[in-house]
Amino acid sequence: MNYSHTYHAGSFSDVFKHIVLVMLVQSLRKKETPFCYLDTHAGLGRYDLQSKAAEKTGEASDGIGKVLRKQNMPPAVLDYATVVRAMNSPEAAEEMPRFYPGSPCLVRHFLRPQDRMVLTELDADDAQALKQEFHGDAQVGVHNTDGYAALKAFLPPKEKRGLVLIDPPFERPDEFRAAAQALTAAWQRWPRGTYAFWYPIKDRPPIDKFERLIGASGIQKVLVAELCLLPDTRAATLNGCGMMIVNPPWHMDEELRSILAWLWPRLRNGELGSTRVEWIVPE
Ligand code: SAM
Repeated sequence: MNYSHTYHAGSFSDVFKHIVLVMLVQSLRKKETPFCYLDTHAGLGRYDLQSKAAEKTGEASDGIGKVLRKQNMPPAVLDYATVVRAMNSPEAAEEMPRFYPGSPCLVRHFLRPQDRMVLTELDADDAQALKQEFHGDAQVGVHNTDGYAALKAFLPPKEKRGLVLIDPPFERPDEFRAAAQALTAAWQRWPRGTYAFWYPIKDRPPIDKFERLIGASGIQKVLVAELCLLPDTRAATLNGCGMMIVNPPWHMDEELRSILAWLWPRLRNGELGSTRVEWIVPE
């Protein structure tokens, strides 16, 4: 396993994924009853954007660096930016942030005392860092294990309400197929859960195939939202990314359209690229 998310922390793709994550968690907070958040590929809790790895790619300057100082943020973007700012010193808050929250720290910020979070991470060093990050936090469980196996082990949660983030590194060539199988099995165990699956957009055929697999799986209420900074025609480059959401909250399609209308012009370079919000399996 070679993947390290430190190279990509705070990139345009993290920005989009994490804003969607905030929208989903905020929706769960509307009811007092407890919820459980399962993060199958958790990564680190936080990232140092001044680390050698982060500076080597410079991806954060094309992501969070283009968003954090902007005005007139929609509410979910503002909530997200508030967590990023809170992780940094007040003097640094208006500049490019030094620290960037991974999905675990981002969601932890929104948990109420009645909620809980389960994090799984296969890399032993990253899992150890996560354990240190949340040491002594009774609301957070960290497991050094396979994320797809975690879907079997931890679902359905006792709370019967919650969100699952599936955010694999796409190192293995069959990741889309593995994810479709795992998502289908998880949905069969717990059809009422909300699931968010991140995927890279290079060229279209693998995504079309994945959508056909999901469409034929029996899973109901599946929405996709995508942000592309380049045309989705070249298999060799990361041109954009998408989030597939199963059981999204009411009106999330409309909210996503308005978030993307704000976000895309701020992240893109020039006129290339596109956005998409579409039901794969209708409500
Ligand atoms: N979710 C994180 C965030 O948004 O901040 C980023 C996660 S990163 C894209 C993917 C992570 O999955 C890496 O930390 C990698 O070590 C881990 N990983 C790779 N294969 C895994 C597996 N089979 N099960 C769990 N974690 C895995």
